[in-house]
Amino acid sequence: MTPLKTVFFTTLSIALFSCSKSESTTTPTNNNTSPTSTAVPAVYSKIYGAATITNDGTYITIKTKNLPDHKSTYYPTSNALYEAYSGTTFGGFTFNKNPNSIVEQSSTIKIPVNPKLNAAHAATPLGPIGIALNGVVLFNQYAGPANQALTGEIASFDKYYGHPQQSGMYHYHVEPVYLTTVKATKSGLMGFLLDGFPVYGPQEEDGTLVTNSMLDDYHGHTHKTVDFTSGTYHYHFTNEAPYLNGSGFYGTPGTISQ
Ligand SMILES: [Zn+2]
Ligand SMILES: [Zn+2]
Repeated sequence: MTPLKTVFFTTLSIALFSCSKSESTTTPTNNNTSPTSTAVPAVYSKIYGAATITNDGTYITIKTKNLPDHKSTYYPTSNALYEAYSGTTFGGFTFNKNPNSIVEQSSTIKIPVNPKLNAAHAATPLGPIGIALNGVVLFNQYAGPANQALTGEIASFDKYYGHPQQSGMYHYHVEPVYLTTVKATKSGLMGFLLDGFPVYGPQEEDGTLVTNSMLDDYHGHTHKTVDFTSGTYHYHFTNEAPYLNGSGFYGTPGTISQ
């Protein structure tokens, strides 16, 4: 073979190889989406209380008015969802209403669409750390202003274990019982923390009650769920402190702005 022919055949074989390689790695399943798809994955559509949900390929952006879709003694009496409440609340505490009322919010929550472990495990802040399916924000296991134990606040949880803070932002620190008993089940998806990892109720799908000993320092663990059939890290609500999150986020948190 002459040198010229060698060059020719080498070039041709590279071209053929490259061509077949690129065809074999092309995903033929969806012709309508670019590599960074901006369709909203179905699991986020379960956040039925959100005003809007969008996906830019990096973050899921959720806008919410943060108004619970269940009755509460914290709604103004003029609201159709107002309901007087007395009796006991979470943990057997005698209900003791706080002075705040529910006020509509305008919150924008951004969570990573591909959540990843971050070994720094940033501490959760006071204020919103996630969102429940009904559009209500989730708070951590502490009370303000300086990470005090939640004990003093628990008595002010309403029938559905939520309450508003000073600016009227309604929130759950513990199991949102309207979701676990009316809208879903004790083992169902409850929402997401800001790092994008999902939150489940206080039971596993086989009915096992989740205890702290089954969870890591961040209050989660990894296995398959009906929503994530390949498995995912996820948090659980538990009946015992810290209820939702332990020593920080498992992944890198997104943002929330009011
Ligand atoms: Zn609170
Ligand atoms: Zn689990």
